[in-house]
Amino acid sequence: MRILQASYIIPLNAAPIAKGYLYIEDDGTIIHMGQEAPITDQFEVEVFEGILCPGFVNTHCHLELSHMKGMIPEDSGLPSFIDQIPKQRQKSTDDLVAVMKRVDCEMHEAGIVAVGDISNSDVSIPVKSESTIRYHSFVELFGLNKSEASQLQEEGEKKVKKFETADLSASLVPHAPYSVSPSLLGGIYNHSKGSLLSIHHQETRSENELFMKGKGDLADVLLKKELDLSAHLNCGKNSSDFSLISYLPAHQKILLVHNTYSTAKDIDRVMKHFEAAYWCTCPKANWYIERRLPDYHLWREKGLKITLGTDSLASNDTLSILDEMKLIQKQYPNIPTDELLSWACKNGADFFDYKTLGSFKAGNKPGVILIEKVDGLQLTPESKVRVLAH
Ligand SMILES: [Zn+2]
Repeated sequence: MRILQASYIIPLNAAPIAKGYLYIEDDGTIIHMGQEAPITDQFEVEVFEGILCPGFVNTHCHLELSHMKGMIPEDSGLPSFIDQIPKQRQKSTDDLVAVMKRVDCEMHEAGIVAVGDISNSDVSIPVKSESTIRYHSFVELFGLNKSEASQLQEEGEKKVKKFETADLSASLVPHAPYSVSPSLLGGIYNHSKGSLLSIHHQETRSENELFMKGKGDLADVLLKKELDLSAHLNCGKNSSDFSLISYLPAHQKILLVHNTYSTAKDIDRVMKHFEAAYWCTCPKANWYIERRLPDYHLWREKGLKITLGTDSLASNDTLSILDEMKLIQKQYPNIPTDELLSWACKNGADFFDYKTLGSFKAGNKPGVILIEKVDGLQLTPESKVRVLAH
C-alpha cells in the first residue's frame, strides 16, 4: 500500500480535499481518501505539492498524423488545412510506427490513460497492442462519391475486424458532415448500431455556410476537387441535422468533436434529440487552425457533457491534456480546475464507459497523477504532470 498526501486532491467523485491523504494499492487501485492522518506509521507518507487527480482521458486524437508536426502553417483555416492533410500523409509505415510509439510514450508521461483515436488505416494496431494506454479506435471513413460508398464501407468494416482481432475495441465512424455521402452515412450507421460514434462537427464557420447557403471557403475547396456535394449544398438543414439527427435514434451515444462554431440554436437542436451527446473540445488545435475557441460560457450554460481531446500533431505541438486545460483557463480564468478536470477525466471515461477510470472512487484504477507548479487550485503556465501510478 502507498499513502500519498498533496496540497489538494481532486477526486471527481467528491469535492476537492485540501491537505488530504490518498491510500492506494501498489498497483494503483484506489483504497480510500480523506483528511485524517494515517493511524499507523507503518507506511511512509509520500508528500507532494500540487494537485492529485485521476489519469486523463484524451477523447480525440489522430496517432496516424503524428509525423506531421509543424508541417501545416498555423492560422490557415480549416478548408486549407483539410486540403493539405492528404498531401502530407504519406510516410513509410516503419517510420510512422516508430513515431507513433514515441508519441504513445509521451502521452503516457503526460498522464493520459485512455485515448479515442481516429484511425483511417490499421497501421496503429502494433502500437496500441503494446501500449499501457487503453485505446478505442474510431475507424473513420470519408467519401462523397455515391458509387464508392459500398466499397468504402466494406474496407472500413474489414479494418474494424482487424482491430477487434487484435483485441482492440473499434467502431466505424464518419469523418465530418461535409465529407461523407448520404449513402455512406447510412451504411456506417447501419453497421455501427449501438457502438460508439464520433464525428468532426462545426469546426469551421464555412461548414455552416456550405449547408445553409451553398457557398463558402469549404465548399470552394471541395468543389475544386470535383467532389459531389449535390446532397449537401444549400440542403436547408444544418450540418448536424443532415448528418446525425435524420439518421440516429435518441439513445445513440455520440461524441461531437470541436463544435467551435456551434450556436445556441445548433446546440439546442442536438440536445433536444440526443440523450447522450458528449461535446469534445480540442482548444489548442482550434487555436492552431482557426485562431478561435468555442464559446465555453455557452457550453456551461447549456450544461453540456464536455470532454477534452488533443487532436493530432498536425495541428498541435503537444499531445497533453494538461496543456489543453491551461489554454482554456488562460482564456476563461473563471472555469475552476476541478471542473476542467471533470472534462479531462470523468466525462471521457463516462463516454467510453470505462467504469474504473475517471475518478478516485474506491476500487477504481484510474491512474494517479500530480499536477505540479500550481497556484492554489489554479493552473499556471509552468504547471506540469508527474505520473505517480498508472
Ligand atoms: Zn480530428
